[in-house]
Amino acid sequence: MTTKAFVIGHPINHSRSPLIHGTWIAHHGLDASYEAIDVPPDQLPAFFERLRRGEFAGGNVTIPHKQDVFALCDSVDPLATSIGAVNTLVVENGRISGSNTDYLGFLGNLDAEAPGWSDRLDTAIVLGAGGAARAILVALQSRNVGSIVLLNRTRDTAEKLAAEMPGSISVAPLDSFNDVAPLAQLVVNTSSIGMHGSRFENLDLSKLPKGALVTDIVYTPLQTPLLQDAQVQGLKIVDGLGMLLHQAVPGFKAWFGVRPEVDKALRAKIEGTLGH
Ligand code: NAP
Repeated sequence: MTTKAFVIGHPINHSRSPLIHGTWIAHHGLDASYEAIDVPPDQLPAFFERLRRGEFAGGNVTIPHKQDVFALCDSVDPLATSIGAVNTLVVENGRISGSNTDYLGFLGNLDAEAPGWSDRLDTAIVLGAGGAARAILVALQSRNVGSIVLLNRTRDTAEKLAAEMPGSISVAPLDSFNDVAPLAQLVVNTSSIGMHGSRFENLDLSKLPKGALVTDIVYTPLQTPLLQDAQVQGLKIVDGLGMLLHQAVPGFKAWFGVRPEVDKALRAKIEGTLGH
């Protein structure tokens, strides 16, 4: 019998998940399917009833449902609770468990592209304090980063986020980047600056230590102005597309029983869809 998985959202036609999972299903020759299903918010409970009847092995959840599914799941992984969002569902014997794989995507991307990046990592700067920042903070804390400095345009938002997260996170305004930079071995942009080529003002990347790594989770464009500037400074850079690809790995493994590879061919295929 065909093993079925899905991504639900509203709208859903923008999702690249069917292409990612479809590529892996074909590569492994599985009797499996992965489909995008448009589920308006008022139909989410009915969709969960359908799930409990066993039609699907599980699936992904995207905007606007990532918070609303908490109340509908039978269990939610504690890290997804810290992150405040569920993006992956697994159905077993009519029970639905929710987790969040974004933090694993972030870690998997850096582990693949910058091996050893978290060894002896004392200070990391995180730019932005929106929804995506939560997964990045959880990821960094899971690698025992000594000190995390959260810089955001709206300081109150960052203070609130830092207070909600476990562990100690210091907060400062964006314009203190140049003061903190000399201590930082890692800079992660989680803000939406960089999308469509937008640029941070007054970040002096030359203040970072020579071996620092700069990574951006924004992947449209792939080379954000931040990454371009870091490259000009001779710093190591990692773009955000790999996070999207690696976050898909744990779900695929759970539903279909095979751990898929994030390889160059998959990356090239998804890269070809950016900007479309
Ligand atoms: P969000 O919740 O809307 O948060 C946006 C953040 O950007 C906030 O910290 C906001 O600061 C800051 N910001 C926006 N415009 C700004 C400006 N002009 N100047 C300074 N700061 C600004 O968004 P999100 O869900 O966290 O997503 C952020 C980005 O991450 C998006 O581009 C998204 O596509 C990307 N993302 C990538 C992946 C991946 O797999 N690679 C996964 C998730 C998200 P304020 O608090 O001051 O408003």
